[in-house]
Amino acid sequence: MSNALAHRTVAALVTGVAILHTEAKEGKQTLAPVAGSILAAICTNLPDKLEPAIHPHHRQFFHSVAFATLIGGGMYKLYQWETETEMEQLLKCCLLVAGGSYLIHLAMDSCTRRSLPLLGKL
Ligand SMILES: [Zn+2]
Repeated sequence: MSNALAHRTVAALVTGVAILHTEAKEGKQTLAPVAGSILAAICTNLPDKLEPAIHPHHRQFFHSVAFATLIGGGMYKLYQWETETEMEQLLKCCLLVAGGSYLIHLAMDSCTRRSLPLLGKL
């Protein structure tokens, strides 16, 4: 039972708590957890925008384990990026939140009866 509202709720909560935890470790207190939660709630349904749930087999390449692996690899490279400006840091954070919320969507879909295809069709 992973509908759009469930995806948004879980992505917002997980992202907000993760950013809150990171800020607590660094002794910071900003609005980033709220902003991150909102961005995650917006981005998490991108897989269903790319492959709308119009039939039971809508989950193809953009819902696949292969694509999740590509996103994970890209996020790892992004995480290693040593930014030099505030704008680069903001861009890095936004992309990490967007990628993370995409992966949250796929993780939730993988827990359903139909799960995710290994590769899917393009
Ligand atoms: Zn989906």
